[in-house]
Amino acid sequence: MAEDIQAIRQAIQDRLGLTIPSCVESSKAAYKCERCKDTGWIETQDENGVRYVQKCACRLAREAEERLAASGLADSVKKHTFAAFETRTPTQARIKDTAEKYLAALLDPGIRDNPRRPWLYIGGNPGSGKTHICTAICGELLRHNIGVRYMQWLNEARRLKAGVNDENFEDQVTDYTRVSVLYIDDLLKQKYTDRPTFTEADIKIAFTVLNARYLLNKPTIISSEWDLLEHLLPADEGVFSRVYERCKGYTVTIERGLQNNYRLMDPPAAST
Ligand SMILES: [Zn+2]
Repeated sequence: MAEDIQAIRQAIQDRLGLTIPSCVESSKAAYKCERCKDTGWIETQDENGVRYVQKCACRLAREAEERLAASGLADSVKKHTFAAFETRTPTQARIKDTAEKYLAALLDPGIRDNPRRPWLYIGGNPGSGKTHICTAICGELLRHNIGVRYMQWLNEARRLKAGVNDENFEDQVTDYTRVSVLYIDDLLKQKYTDRPTFTEADIKIAFTVLNARYLLNKPTIISSEWDLLEHLLPADEGVFSRVYERCKGYTVTIERGLQNNYRLMDPPAAST
């Protein structure tokens, strides 16, 4: 509305060569956003003259900030970007390549409405950059105004275990089941062995979150030290065969071994 008034005033000024005092401008100091007068909404009209309201840019920016704060990744997305992800080995290149393809798929409007939206699974050796690359994807999604939530498995599973046998357990994980994109970091984390056994509580938490997201068709990004087929599928075929199905085309398995622990590598030589 304020824009309309300003446009009319400008047209009259141009025509008459006069300066018309502005009551809109005089009230400027009272509003943080002059466009919407701090309502968060602006009225506009389409090409057929139908008037409608839409969110003001200030409201969109505020919502983006809130999403970032709620994601649990506000600090780490600044550091863990795609640009900062090093690709000095073929494995690192494969991780980055898959992550970029996955991000492109999630942002593709055609895939947004797909009845089977893809998930991402990066499994294998610690220190191989799994958390970095998954965080980079989350940072890009947040930049595209997509809600993301970070779930650090070890801490959250520990907290959730207290209520895992409650009747309303599903209600306790709604933060994780309802968000547009969930990133589970270090799924089913525990001391590494070739044949892990997971507790019933662990499996129930994983099942409750992953199954709900599967049924709601909500993309899920998973990093884990475990190999999806070798370790997780035998632990619970029902839930992990669903994960496997959704992650088709977007699964990276990093071989175990010190050669894939980049925390142990020398820092890269300074580029000249
Ligand atoms: Zn505004």
